[in-house]
This record gives sequence, C-alpha cells and structure tokens, in this order.
Amino acid sequence: MSTVAVLIDHRDGAVTRPSLEALTLARSLGTPVAVWLGAAPGADATAQLGEYGAAEVRVVDGDNLRLSARAAAAVGAASEDAAVLLMISTFVSKEIATRLALATGAGVVVDAAGAELVDGKVETLQTVFAATWNVRSRIESDKAIVGIRPNTTMAAPAQTPGAATVVDIQVDLPETRERVVAVEAVEQGDGVPLAEAPVVVSGGRGTGGDYGLVGELAELLGGAVGASRDATDEGWISHEHMVGQTGTTVTPALYVACGISGAVHHRGGMQASGTIVSINMDPDAPIFDISDFGVVGNLFDVVPQTIARIKEHRGS
Ligand SMILES: Cc1cc2nc3c(=O)[nH]c(=O)nc-3n(C[C@H](O)[C@H](O)[C@H](O)COP(=O)(O)OP(=O)(O)OC[C@H]3O[C@@H](n4cnc5c(N)ncnc54)[C@H](O)[C@@H]3O)c2cc1C
Repeated sequence: MSTVAVLIDHRDGAVTRPSLEALTLARSLGTPVAVWLGAAPGADATAQLGEYGAAEVRVVDGDNLRLSARAAAAVGAASEDAAVLLMISTFVSKEIATRLALATGAGVVVDAAGAELVDGKVETLQTVFAATWNVRSRIESDKAIVGIRPNTTMAAPAQTPGAATVVDIQVDLPETRERVVAVEAVEQGDGVPLAEAPVVVSGGRGTGGDYGLVGELAELLGGAVGASRDATDEGWISHEHMVGQTGTTVTPALYVACGISGAVHHRGGMQASGTIVSINMDPDAPIFDISDFGVVGNLFDVVPQTIARIKEHRGS
C-alpha cells in the first residue's frame, strides 16, 4: 500500500477532529503517516494518531512555520515519498497545497468533500458554485494533494492501530520575504469552531437579535452558532459567526436555519451541509427550496418545543 501523508491540524497540542477525519479517509487510500509541524506531540496526541491508523508521526520543528513558504517546504520534505497528501481545507493549508503542487508538479484539489482511489488514481468530489454543482475530478499526476472539508468523513479509529513511530525530519527551511506582523487569536468561546462544527444552528433577522434560543439549541446539539450577514451587520452577533459568501463556509452534518430567508449569498456558505432544517414564518422563503426538513412557524414557538423534545428524548 502506498504512503498517504496527512498534515495534522493541532490546537494547544491536541489533534483537531477534522484531522482525525482526514486520517480515517487516508486509511481508505493507503498507509497513513501523520505530518506534524511544530514541537513534537505529547504522548496522548501521538497515541491518538496511532489509534486512527498513523504508522508514523513525522515531526518538523523550526522557526516561523506559520509562513507558508516555510510550512510548504516542511510538509514537502515530510511527505516526499507519499503518493497522496491530505490536508484540511483551511486558508493556510490551501496556500501550502498550491505552493507544494507548483514545486512538485502534483495535482491539487481543495475543498473536496471526499476522495477515493479509482484504477490507482485519486478521484475527488466537490460541490462548487454555491453548492449548485457536484464535481468529480481525477488527479492524473503521480502525486495528489487534496484539501478535505471538515465533516465530510465520519472519524473512526482504525481496526488495527498504527505504530505512530515518531520520526524527526530535518529540513533546511527557506528564507522568505513573508513576515508575520501580528498573531491574534480569534475569540472562539468554549464551543467548537464554526468551520469545523458537526452541527451549526444559525439565526438570522428573524431572531430580532435574541440569540438565546439559537445558542441553547446549538449547545444542546454540541454545535456552533452561525448567523446571517444581516444579523451580524445589525451588531446582534459578531462577524466571526457569519455564514455565507463573505462569511465562513460550513459543511456540518446538520445545519439548522432559524429565521433566515435563504438569500443566495447565505446559501453559498451552507448549501453543502449534510441535512438542512429550516424554521421560517414565510412558507415561500427560498431557504425551504434547499431544506431537507422545513417548519413553517415562529422560531420563538418552534425552537423551545424542539429543545423540550430533545431533552425529553434524552431523558434529561
Ligand atoms: C456581496 C454580498 C455578499 C453577501 N454575503 C453574505 C453572507 O456571506 N452571508 C449572508 O448571510 N448574507 C450575505 N449577504 C446578504 C444577503 O444577501 C441577505 O441580505 C442576508 O443573508 C439576509 O439575512 P436574513 O436571512 O437574516 O434576513 P432576511 O432576508 O430579512 O430574512 C429574515 C427571515 O426571517 C423570517 N422570520 C422573521 N421573523 C421570524 C420568526 N419570528 N420566526 C421564524 N422566521 C422569521 C422571515 O420570514 C424572513 O424569511 C451578502 C450580500 C451581498 C450583496
């Protein structure tokens, strides 16, 4: 089986859930090895990478690995022997992917919703143009680089864990004219980051600025709170929560839209979600055109009943 390198996203030393999804997907393409940028992972993170099938954990440490030219060189060295390199589709990884593709001649697809081997070549699935088209691409080059969207693979431990042998990779990192001017952590709250959340409950103008119920439902479902642009423009909730063309693109397993009309700019950022549930007073709201389940009603009546039924179902 050929080597499939997976660039691991980690936060405060912990492996992020999308990285576990990528490792799960990698197992269907070959033998996964984890690529870890920064100080070597601790015992727990290493064990978890093994649990999800990583045969090796290739660590590249060095200064300024936030700079994409240096990160690309690091990832390139750690994945030289890999026929496939998987990464989570983020702004940073897309830059790494394109730099590496240019340097190695690899074929690159980002924002993929899946990847599989067909006749020895990687084929990817994407939804494009505001999720109005499904595209299957085949990477013909010997090396394939694929950026995978979060929540498109169900993370599952491997039946046979990998050895997760830690290997230090030494790389001469290039000098670059990029400079990090400031690093500011975006306030995420206690919950899951919006782009990675398996469940997103969003509120729009229909909330009238009251996000209490939306937040409660999101918390109950272990999800993140999203919003339409009108709601963020009103100052009801911060812009980090905005979903859509100018906001974050989300692909959760479940997207709940409360009091959102479903303008094309909003739909572009959530239409590729697994299951879409909408609550809107207007039976003709465009959001219903793309919803799997729709409730015509006042969210202030519907959401409390939903919360009550979920709690009842869980026996809490
Ligand atoms: C260049 C550009 C980029 C944009 N980018 C984005 C973007 O990234 N994301 C984004 O979201 N928008 C974006 N927009 C704005 C977008 O076009 C819409 O204006 C916006 O999405 C509408 O927000 P909304 O659905 O909350 O409000 P509205 O369109 O006003 O809809 C509110 C809905 O709530 C319903 N409602 C009202 N009260 C209740 C209630 N009590 N219970 C249930 N339902 C109720 C109404 O029936 C209505 O359907 C962009 C616009 C432009 C021009």
